[in-house]
Amino acid sequence: MSEVTNRQILLVEKPSGKLSPKHFKFTSGTIPVPRDGEVLLRVRYISLDAANRAWMHGATYRSAVEANTVMAGGGIAEVIASKADGFVPGDIVFADTGWQDFAALSAKQLTKLPRIEPMTHLLSVFGIAGLTAYFGLLEIGKPKADETVVVSAAAGSVGSLVGQIAKIKGCRVIGIAGGKDKCRWLTSELGFDAAVDYKDGAVFKALRAAAPAGIDVYFDNVGGDILEAVLPQMNLRGRIACCGAISQYDGAPAAHGPRGVPGLIVVKRLIMQGFIVMDFMDQRDRALADLQAWVASGKLKVQEDVIEGLEHTPQALIGLLHGQNRGKRMIKV
Ligand code: NDP
Repeated sequence: MSEVTNRQILLVEKPSGKLSPKHFKFTSGTIPVPRDGEVLLRVRYISLDAANRAWMHGATYRSAVEANTVMAGGGIAEVIASKADGFVPGDIVFADTGWQDFAALSAKQLTKLPRIEPMTHLLSVFGIAGLTAYFGLLEIGKPKADETVVVSAAAGSVGSLVGQIAKIKGCRVIGIAGGKDKCRWLTSELGFDAAVDYKDGAVFKALRAAAPAGIDVYFDNVGGDILEAVLPQMNLRGRIACCGAISQYDGAPAAHGPRGVPGLIVVKRLIMQGFIVMDFMDQRDRALADLQAWVASGKLKVQEDVIEGLEHTPQALIGLLHGQNRGKRMIKV
C-alpha cells in the first residue's frame, strides 16, 4: 500500500441554494483500522447520483448527510484487510464508502459483488442505476408492447436504460432531455423513437407532437414542470413510476408540484406510484440475469462517464446536476 494517508472530501456546509465547490473541503485523515466484524476497504469507483444532493436536504430513504462529515456516496471497493467472516482480501463489494480512499465498514453494510470486466458496469447497468430502471419500469410502469413510454432525464444513467428496456419490451419510447445533442444521441444511438428537448421550452407541445396518441407509461425522474406537462397527456389507466424529482434537488426556487393532479388521476384512472429500488432486492438475481443477457446481445447499450481523480468529485456532482453527464457518471479514485 503506497498511500500513507486517507484522502477525504468533507461536506463543510449544507447548501441552501445551488451546490458549489465552497460546500466541500479536501482533507486527509489516517487509514482506519477495522474492528471485529469490520473490513478495511480501498475505494475504486465512487458513484455520482442526483440523489447525493437530495441527501443534503434531510433524511430521505437514508439519514441526512451532515456538515463536517465525509460526504456520503456509494462506491465499488476492494477488501484490503478483513476481521469479518465471509470477506477476504481481494473481494469486491458495493457499499456507502463515502468520498475517500479508504473506509472501515461492518460486514452488514457490504454487498459482495462478482469480479467482472469492466468493473464500472457494477455501478451502472448491473448496479443501482440498472436495477432502478429495470424494476421501476417493469414493476411500477408495467409497460405492454405497443404502448407509449415517456422517460425524463432520458440521457442520464437511469433514464438511458429505462428507454432501452422499454424498446426491448416492444414499446414506443420518447425521451425528454436537455439539449439537441443529447436528444440526437437518444434517437440515433439508443433507438428511442423520439426525443424532446425540454430546454427549448414548450414541452407540452413537443410531447403532443411526439406522442399524438397519448402516453401510457411515464417514468418520472424529475418532477416539477415536466411532470405537469406530461400529466394531461396520460392515457386512460396510464401508469406513472415516480423515481425521483431532480428539478427540486438543487436549490429550486420553491418546490412546486404539478397543478390539477387529483382531478386528472380520478378521471383517467391513473396509477402514480413512488418506489425505492431497495424494495426489490429480493428479485435482484432475476433482474441481473435479464440485464446481463441484454448487454451481451447488444440490445442494451451502456453509456458511462468516468472521471479520474478523487479531487474532482465535488465538481463532477455539480456538473451532473447541471446536465453535463451522459449515462452513468462516476469517479475513478
Ligand atoms: P442522471 O445520470 O440521470 O443525471 C441527472 C440528469 O438530470 C442530468 O444529466 C440532467 O440532464 C437532468 N436534470 C438536471 N436538472 C434537471 C431539471 N431541472 N429538469 C430536468 N432534468 C434535469 O442521475 P441519476 O441516474 O443519479 O438519477 C436519475 C433519477 O433517478 C433521479 O431522480 C434520482 O433521484 C433517481 N433515482 C431513484 C432511485 C430510486 O430507488 N427511486 C434510485 C436511483 C436513482 P439534462 O441535460 O437532460 O438536463
